[in-house]
Amino acid sequence: MFARFILMTTQLPGDALVSLNAVNKHYGQLHVLKDINLQVRKGEVVVVIGPSGSGKSTLCRAINRLETIDDGDIAIDGKQLPAEGKELARLRADVGMVFQSFNLFAHKTILENVTLGPIKVKGVSKAEADKEAMALLERVGVGHQAPKLPAQLSGGQQQRVAIARALAMKPKVMLFDEPTSALDPEMINEVLDVMIQLAKEGMTMIVVTHEMGFARKAADRVVFMADGQIVEDATPEEFFTNPQSSRAKDFLSKLL
Ligand code: ADP
Ligand code: MG
Repeated sequence: MFARFILMTTQLPGDALVSLNAVNKHYGQLHVLKDINLQVRKGEVVVVIGPSGSGKSTLCRAINRLETIDDGDIAIDGKQLPAEGKELARLRADVGMVFQSFNLFAHKTILENVTLGPIKVKGVSKAEADKEAMALLERVGVGHQAPKLPAQLSGGQQQRVAIARALAMKPKVMLFDEPTSALDPEMINEVLDVMIQLAKEGMTMIVVTHEMGFARKAADRVVFMADGQIVEDATPEEFFTNPQSSRAKDFLSKLL
């Protein structure tokens, strides 16, 4: 019993797949991330919400080292992210990112968009990359679009390709920064459905979104940010029925 107890407690820190400790960032005078502490466990889905300008995108970019931080540390699967170099490229591959603007390579086919990373960064053979990319494209429902160029696809389809492209790198965690904000309303659900499926399959996800339906359905935790701070960190049930802070109450009341 005792040995098992020790084992369990010693495993707890390693449990966090994404770990931010006392992270601070400024843009000049603007203190944009204030002492951020956030632990995301393997398989957990954390939805980040909050008013525009509260630091949600900066948080996502910091996790992937697309932004530097002033102090604190960020670890992915127990490894701190170095500021630069080969090791950074390798660790960055553990984090898949999907942005509001899909950022597909306009002059490459859908299939090439998905195979490029595995071939260039991971040294996967073209045959193997093609096979895996086709399976991923099928999974997100755009297999038949593989030979086309991005501009020939709808926004919803392009965003699903962007998700397949991120998954092709076999990331340990997926970050989504407002993945449906640039989409026409009728295309939002086809992207959210892919994300909900991914969550069900056990992917660790951090999702910045204004889609409260997704938060209620798929989130294990809701993190509410305001003015660069994490103001609330609760289950969706707790957050939506009983928000603690006046800022969260105010934010939620404006959504109705
Ligand atoms: P959110 O995603 O929650 O809307 P952001 O992380 O994009 O918030 O921005 C947080 C704050 O940082 C905002 O006030 C924004 O204007 C500012 N900001 C974001 N990026 C930059 C930058 N590159 N340079 C200066 N200020 C920035
Ligand atoms: Mg943003």
